[in-house]
Formats: sequence, structure tokens, C-alpha cells
Amino acid sequence: MNIVLLGPPGSGKGTQSQLLAESFNLVQLSTGDLFRQILQNPHHPLYDELQIIKQGKLVSDEVVNKVVEDALKKLTNAKGIIFDGFPRTVAQAKALDRMLSSLNRKVDVVIDFNVTEGVLLYRLLGRRICPNCKRVFHVNQGYIECLDCKVKLVTRDDDNEEVIMKRFKEYKEKTVGVQEYYRDSNCAYISLTIDDIDTTPEEVHQQIISELKERDLV
Ligand code: AMP
Repeated sequence: MNIVLLGPPGSGKGTQSQLLAESFNLVQLSTGDLFRQILQNPHHPLYDELQIIKQGKLVSDEVVNKVVEDALKKLTNAKGIIFDGFPRTVAQAKALDRMLSSLNRKVDVVIDFNVTEGVLLYRLLGRRICPNCKRVFHVNQGYIECLDCKVKLVTRDDDNEEVIMKRFKEYKEKTVGVQEYYRDSNCAYISLTIDDIDTTPEEVHQQIISELKERDLV
């Protein structure tokens, strides 16, 4: 089962990707994580091109598609893949269909996270991440270290209000077309609405599982 997670920054894609990967033994592919890894190496050929991330803008389709294509080559044995943060444009969605079809795979499920802007801001401004396992925490939980890795939690460079607003704008402009693209396709489309800051990741995960069960997908 290959799953695409759609949703604005802070909508919980990363967290739900981890939970789904654990529940169904799937592999996660997060373009944001791949880019942040590249940005740690100033000698990487894409280092300069990826500086655009700091302005909250999208990386070009050409670069994103190439990075995903290379990543997919290493995942040929995966039972299924969860795409977190990709595709973000219609051109990327079409490229993903081509890449998957050459591997005899397809997008089976799209999960679209609709989260109100207040909840998104609360989550993003308080988000703390384990640089090792990428587990996401919130500052209000009071943890300084990752509970699993015991590594000091960090704040992402682009989780500040100015850049967050630009990322929201980019999302709204570019990703609406991706939602339409998948709604018109043959894959299962699960749309979730989250408007309460107290909704827990586990509650959302259970909701996803029941939606998958309803469609006989698990
Ligand atoms: P994320 O971790 O998914 O929030 O991604 C962090 C940043 O990486 C985004 O704000 C974009 O600048 C860039 N990025 C990640 N995925 C994509 C994508 N599919 N297309 C274009 N830019 C991307």
C-alpha cells in the first residue's frame, strides 16, 4: 500500500507518517527530511539550490522529482511507501505516477489533513524535533531530550512566524491542484478535519485506521 499525505505545514503529516509506518510496516519518504539532510552538507551539489527552503518557498519540481526518484531506487523492497510532503504540485503528482508505474506500483491512498490555521500555528510555533529519529514533540510537553534517542530536541529553522506564513501561502497556491488531481483519480481519498488543539496524534491515527478499514484497505 502506497500512501500520499497531503496537508499544510504543521498538519501532522510527519507524525502520522511515523505511526502508519509502525502500524503497517511501511517505509516513510519525507522530502523535507531529505532536504534538511542535504543542507547539513555544504559540499552537496544541491546545497545552494535548497537555500530557498529558508524563505518558505517551494523547491523546483525538477530538483524535488530527481531527489524522490533517487530515493525510490533504494526502496525497491519496501512493502509500501508513505509520501510525506510530496507531491506538492500537480507536476510532482504526475511525475510520481510515472515513477511508481515504472516500479509496478501506484498511489493507493491519499490522506488529506484539513487543519485550521489556529491549530497549525500553535503546533508549528511550539514544535520541537529530535534531529536523530525526527520524532515530533511540542514545547508544552516540557521535554528537552527525545524520549527514544536521548538527543537534545531542536527547533526547525523555518518554524518561525514570518516563514510559516509564507509556507501557508505556498501551500494554498500550489497544493489545491494536487487535491483536485487525486480526487479525480482512482485512489482512495480520505479527508480528515482537525480543528481542536487537544486532538492527539493517537486519536488521528485511530481515525485513519478506521477509514482504511471502512474501505477494506487494511
Ligand atoms: P516539510 O518538512 O515537508 O515542511 O518541508 C520543508 C520545506 O522543504 C518546504 O517548506 C519546502 O521549502 C521544501 N519542500 C519539501 N517538500 C517539497 C516538495 N514536494 N516540493 C517543493 N518543496 C518541498
